[in-house]
Amino acid sequence: MDSGQVILAIDCGTTSCRTLAFDHDGQILATEQLALKQYFPEDGWVEHDAVEIWLNTLKTIRATIQTCKDINQLPVAIGITNQRETLVVWDRKTGAPIHKALVWQDRRTAEFCKKLTQEGKGERVQNATGLLLDPYFSASKIAWILDNVPGARARADKGELVCGTVDSYVIWNLTGGKSHLTDETNASRTSLYNIHDGKWDEEMLEIFNVPKSLLPDVLPSVADFGTAAADIIGMSLPICGVAGDQQAASFGQGCFEAGMSKATYGTGCFALVNTGNTPVKSSHKLLTTIACRSGGDVQYAIEGSIFIAGAVVQWMKERMELVEASGETEELAAALESNKGVYLVPAFTGLGAPYWDSEARGAIFGLRRETGKRTIVRAGLESVAYQTRDLVSALNADGYELKSLRVDGGMSQNNWLMQFLSDVLNIPVERSSTIESTALGVAMLAGLYIGFWKDEQDLKKCLGTTKAFLPKMDDEIRQQQLAGWDIAVKSVRYHAE
Ligand code: ADP
Repeated sequence: MDSGQVILAIDCGTTSCRTLAFDHDGQILATEQLALKQYFPEDGWVEHDAVEIWLNTLKTIRATIQTCKDINQLPVAIGITNQRETLVVWDRKTGAPIHKALVWQDRRTAEFCKKLTQEGKGERVQNATGLLLDPYFSASKIAWILDNVPGARARADKGELVCGTVDSYVIWNLTGGKSHLTDETNASRTSLYNIHDGKWDEEMLEIFNVPKSLLPDVLPSVADFGTAAADIIGMSLPICGVAGDQQAASFGQGCFEAGMSKATYGTGCFALVNTGNTPVKSSHKLLTTIACRSGGDVQYAIEGSIFIAGAVVQWMKERMELVEASGETEELAAALESNKGVYLVPAFTGLGAPYWDSEARGAIFGLRRETGKRTIVRAGLESVAYQTRDLVSALNADGYELKSLRVDGGMSQNNWLMQFLSDVLNIPVERSSTIESTALGVAMLAGLYIGFWKDEQDLKKCLGTTKAFLPKMDDEIRQQQLAGWDIAVKSVRYHAE
């Protein structure tokens, strides 16, 4: 291979830590991945070991740099993308986390958020941050750690603690504690950041009872986040692109302009529509959030989030032992003509958009004597398409009529599901040839900073081609299937009646 330069994209995802090396054409020349242990200490609680996130990330960086050397490629910059909202509180001096990271899926602060809602704070939170009052976002998680780790609040008041999302914690470690920073896309997911003023919001800090001294400084996604030190990763590299995973994926899918949309199918599913420089307020429980920008003014997106997408496959694999590998679900589902009236609602940690119901729990409906593994697996996959339909209906109702949907993420590899998705949505589903849009997106951001790529036009050459799945389901069947799903969702929400 000719010698050349590459950008390292670090992707600290929900299920794994990865590093990928991208060349100027957007091709992956080296990649390393380590799985991340999930902790479920109580119903609705989800934790990660932040130290494991850091050490696994570090191992993948070092291994990728070694591979790059072996193939004569020189890493020139680092971009970081991450599972959003997941929150770490650590000691300012030692860097040691004071508690496990509370993962975005964690619902332990549901009561606290409910109380704030009852006090009428929801509207103010939405107006300032673009978000709904929900345990999903970081703010209530910070307060929980400060109030439940003995002595933490007093230590926070003395300035001994800092906090941040996973990007911030990894930047801190890469720079040997020199940078305590985050980017505006990650900040916009905390419930503490005013997306209109571009600042930590004093009123939100008070509502959620979070001292400002804990929080990182906020930079645009393309900026100088410090230098990853040579004694830590083996060479000195600038960190100059940072973005939350969904915003990075949107950028990596080339959604640079208003009106462009994408959905990423990883552990959860996240659909984003770029709304340009206008922060659109949803009337249908979608979120307003900050999108990546290559420069210029702040860009916004409207977003719908489903908590359980690929995670339903993980559950079928690890907990139910229905399959040994995620990919097996495709063949099992395809072997059936229909779902035989069986619906699985994977509300394992409640339901996200457009329901925002933290108390709902999962259920399987329509079981018969002959129901077997294949039907359950199919119902699990189908649930991901139905949940997307619910999101897309909310987007349509907010005035964003989708003509097609660009998809990426691990689960988008499932051809059967992508066809079913197109059938259920009744629009074309276009899968990018780079299913690694998240990592590519953040590599692009870092590359822009150092001039590796010149501008958005230059970036478009990296985007690759797409495979289209076109709708072919009979309309009557579609309506029948959706009616069954609607009843199933209503049933798991009986408490909300
Ligand atoms: P994350 O970044 O959230 O960790 P990824 O984008 O790596 O997620 O996607 C991994 C998820 O996709 C896992 O939940 C896995 O079960 C699911 N997945 C991967 N391949 C398939 C497949 N062929 N069919 C269904 N699900 C899949």
